[in-house]
Amino acid sequence: MERLQGIAVSPGVAIGEALVVDNEGFRIPRRFLPRDAVDDELERLGRALKAAEAEVEHNRQQVAEQLGDDYAAIFSAHLQMIRDRHLREELDEMIRTRHYSAEYSVSRALRRYAKVFQSLEGQAMAERATDVFDIEKRILRNLLGMRREELAHVISPVLVLAHNLTPSETANLNPRFVLGFVTETGGPGSHTAIVAEGMGIPAVVGVGSFLTDVSGGDTAIIDGDQGQIILRPDEETLARYRHEVEEQRTLAVKLETLRELPAETADGVQIQLLGNIEFPGEVEQCKQRGTDGIGLYRTEFLYLGQDEDPTEESHYEAYLEVAQAMEGKPVVMRTLDLGADKMRTLPDPEDERNPFLGLRSIRLALRHRDLFRTQLRAILRASVLGNIRVMFPLVSTLLELRQAKMVLADAMEDLEEAGITFDRDIKVGMMVEVPSAILMMDHFVEEVDFFSIGTNDLIQYCLAVDRSNKDVANLYTGADPAVIRMIAMALDAANQHQVPISLCGQMSGNPQYTMLLIGLGLRSFSATPAAVPEVKRVCRSVTIEQCEQVSRHVRSLDNARDIRTYLKEELSKVFPELP
Ligand code: PEP
Ligand code: MG
Repeated sequence: MERLQGIAVSPGVAIGEALVVDNEGFRIPRRFLPRDAVDDELERLGRALKAAEAEVEHNRQQVAEQLGDDYAAIFSAHLQMIRDRHLREELDEMIRTRHYSAEYSVSRALRRYAKVFQSLEGQAMAERATDVFDIEKRILRNLLGMRREELAHVISPVLVLAHNLTPSETANLNPRFVLGFVTETGGPGSHTAIVAEGMGIPAVVGVGSFLTDVSGGDTAIIDGDQGQIILRPDEETLARYRHEVEEQRTLAVKLETLRELPAETADGVQIQLLGNIEFPGEVEQCKQRGTDGIGLYRTEFLYLGQDEDPTEESHYEAYLEVAQAMEGKPVVMRTLDLGADKMRTLPDPEDERNPFLGLRSIRLALRHRDLFRTQLRAILRASVLGNIRVMFPLVSTLLELRQAKMVLADAMEDLEEAGITFDRDIKVGMMVEVPSAILMMDHFVEEVDFFSIGTNDLIQYCLAVDRSNKDVANLYTGADPAVIRMIAMALDAANQHQVPISLCGQMSGNPQYTMLLIGLGLRSFSATPAAVPEVKRVCRSVTIEQCEQVSRHVRSLDNARDIRTYLKEELSKVFPELP
């Protein structure tokens, strides 16, 4: 049994068989063969080794002709390894006596060699390890006859263990079969993490290199609450986690009973609980959890995972579906927030060494006006058939906001000229997720109908910590006193001017922050639908006075660790059983 620590990004426990996908998307195969298949398997292995050898020989010759023998030497080394008698004997032995599949044997043997090289000091040894991985992939490619594993096509229940998953790959996972996932890379605020939470599958990211220790078919446990992955668990651990899964089910049933009850504090103050969605399909989850509307629709997911930009019609259909399904409840459409970790077909900006500080979000929309206008037209057209609001992301200056509003006004004018109906009084809001916006709140209050605080970005821009980088994940926290001050500043300014303000970052769905945020003056939360019931339970169990006390105490503390500990204690006083 091996227990590895990563970053907890989507709660819950999943137990199952590992599907291992390495950094090139290769699926590392399952282990055993039927007894009578041994001879065929040995032959398959022989053919794959021969084919790999021929490929390397071809490369060697080409490189030797073009660049000379020195450069070709690397391929000679690869050839030596593929032809190595000891390696072949080892592989044959694994297939013959342990009944391992050829793929599994190759993967296991070569990864063991690579690990030895990795454990040795020095650049040259690290390069040898890379060579061995290279050879492994080449042989696997010949055995499997394909390159990338299509994760979207998984058809039996698995835990996906991968080097990395992009937000769109994650969004395309089928939650019926993918019970959870773990990645070697990734940080706490990455969109991959957010999508996992939205889909309600337990996930852990940023574990660091571990795929060399697992094989397809190994049993594993993903503990999305503690941020751990347990490989090949012993019986006792399995039994304990199975019990935990049962308890989770019981808690979910308990929370279900809250659905029809209002989110109201114990002293009768109404709290609005909205849902965050990425796809129209998630509306159902919002309705099941009894949300008061959609506080954040991340429309950019329409652009991800497909080669072509969505047409005005496909935007319109998606928006209409959401607006109509919500039956008059508010739906906040955030305009496209592409760039940084959410990429698609636009040409890459030329100098994007810091994509989170680059041509992202509203900046990108204002640079690609046609794209932006197409989306705005669709939102406007849908606005007559539901309670739709429009919100601009990542606004950092007033001029930027005014430009975005101008593009919206242009789109309105176009529609008017064409005789197409839309809601003239559509409410226009902005995300508050950049420190400059908070510093300028007294001006922004004059220009928008509502705000939504995006703590996922605010944390990274306030603390200068990349939200998707595991190496600085310890610094990325909403419990930092500087972040809390910023949130308080935004809330105070909006509340003072009576401009509605919500909070739609992940902090909103974390019950540990609920009392603090209410105490700071927040009355509208927008969270991943799955998180809504627990937040509602906290709201219904506390008074405003209690929350204000919590926020006062938090504001007297000067570091994230103390704040986190204090908030945890306060929450456990209200609910001893919450994690
Ligand atoms: C945020 O930044 O808090 C937010 C809600 O937007 P996103 O996570 O999509 O950047
Ligand atoms: Mg954001």
